[in-house]
Amino acid sequence: MRSTMMDAPLQVSRILDHGATVHGTAEVVTWTGAEPSRMTYAEVGRAAARLAHGLRAECGVTGDERVATFMWNNNEHLVAYFAVPSMGAVLHTLNLRLFPDQVAYIANHAEDRVVLVDTTLIPLLARAIGAMTTVRHVVVVGGGDPAPLVEAAGDRITVHRWDDLLAGRPDTYDWPEVDERDAAALCYTSGTTGNPKGVAYSHRSIYLHTLQVCMPEGFGLRPTDRELAIVPMFHAMSWGLPFAAFLSGASLIMPDRFLQAEPIAAMIAAERPTLAGAVPTIWTDLLAYLDTHEVDISSLQEVIVGGSACPPALMHAFAERYDVQVVHAWGMTEMSPLGSVSRPPRGASGEEAWRYRYTQGRIPAGVQARIVGPAGKELPADGTSVGELEVRGPWVTARYVGDDAPDEEKFRDGWLRTGDVGTLSSDGFITLTDRAKDVIKSGGEWISSVELENALMAHPTVLEACVVGVPDERWDERPLATVVLREGASVTAEELRDFLAASVARWQLPERWAFVEAVPKTSVGKFDKKVVRSRYAEGELT
Ligand code: ADP
Repeated sequence: MRSTMMDAPLQVSRILDHGATVHGTAEVVTWTGAEPSRMTYAEVGRAAARLAHGLRAECGVTGDERVATFMWNNNEHLVAYFAVPSMGAVLHTLNLRLFPDQVAYIANHAEDRVVLVDTTLIPLLARAIGAMTTVRHVVVVGGGDPAPLVEAAGDRITVHRWDDLLAGRPDTYDWPEVDERDAAALCYTSGTTGNPKGVAYSHRSIYLHTLQVCMPEGFGLRPTDRELAIVPMFHAMSWGLPFAAFLSGASLIMPDRFLQAEPIAAMIAAERPTLAGAVPTIWTDLLAYLDTHEVDISSLQEVIVGGSACPPALMHAFAERYDVQVVHAWGMTEMSPLGSVSRPPRGASGEEAWRYRYTQGRIPAGVQARIVGPAGKELPADGTSVGELEVRGPWVTARYVGDDAPDEEKFRDGWLRTGDVGTLSSDGFITLTDRAKDVIKSGGEWISSVELENALMAHPTVLEACVVGVPDERWDERPLATVVLREGASVTAEELRDFLAASVARWQLPERWAFVEAVPKTSVGKFDKKVVRSRYAEGELT
């Protein structure tokens, strides 16, 4: 029997229309270094219509053409987030922190036709645009001089100004009905191994994922919330926060290019977010800043931390010193990105609740997970069997852009192989030990680099600790601990080893130590273990 329900497609334009009307007075605020720039969601709706008209009229965007953004988190980027998919085209968020040849590779692979660029990023785009062979139009947001772009790309591109493109256009647009399974947005993984791979989100996957982000067991968004979206809009769609804001009516605070601890603290004090999302390194820096400066962050209730494992010491510091709850979340670009969010289950309190908070969290109904052993056999979800985590669901990609079939290294029997190693409990909590490629293989046993890092970052002198496996003649691999100390602090490797010995088995204790100024980070702010390993191989870390 077929249902009697209407077949209304789940599409991004519905999220836009809802936010722009029902939540029309909610606002997006962009930090500028001077007076913040503000727009209501009603204004975003009108600007999105104008942008869509401008893209069609001046840049000839039709069908599923790709419109790329090379932008910080700001008001105009939000307008593009809604305008491009709503008109039926495909939004492609370019990662501005990649090397220029990688940016060009990605733009060519996606066949981007238009690039929207922030004025402050013109010099960076100029280094890539010469090699972007499919781009025909560049839209500059702001008043900067576009000459470097024209010099690099010649008359292959036409440069437009954002304000001119939107001026005089109608502030409504008859958004087309789309096939909900068509692509709405594209995002590439940052390519820690090999070339970046593309994931194309559908209207349907974005809609369903957005509902989950808003759920109480997700980020729990309400119209009274103000979300500070620090996680870049080019990193896995800013974890879905922009779409979730329009669906829930929560206001948005955007940091633009001001990503250091000082301006973020100022933003929190001035704009009073209730919730914020970023990778652990951002929070580590902010915490160090807050500990030495008087800043009012009392509006913040929760910070969502994901992208890499959140050290328990960071969770405790925010809870105990600032009354801010750190909510640990796990996901991947391939998963839209939300995979799990860690909220203690009913009845858990005290120490038990903390143990739940340390995990990567509980899977929602939209994600199925399983643990698979080395021989490809599914292991029990008993909270102790360790293997690779595999997932599937309506917001998980089934293959990469351009591949006719799923890549066998990343997909198995309709499941995505996450490359993450850990356990799954019978009530759906995931605990990750490490990424498969970062686990340290010592004398036939495994050492979790994350466990050593978490233990080290609990020492009062340690700001950051990154542990990698390095070759060892006798044991195959042994851990190397690279440590960044807090300002003015001093400690010896022996003291840190003794400290670790209280919580870590003796055979796992690192013999190799390096005290460094900073841990190298990837384009999305995670510890770059590949770079640490190669620095060690070159003799730079002894
Ligand atoms: P990239 O591969 O470029 O780092 P992603 O953000 O898509 O980009 O990376 C996804 C990976 O990040 C996951 O497979 C996992 O290894 C790691 N990750 C994300 N969140 C967490 C977390 N809470 N704890 C541990 N690892 C995490």
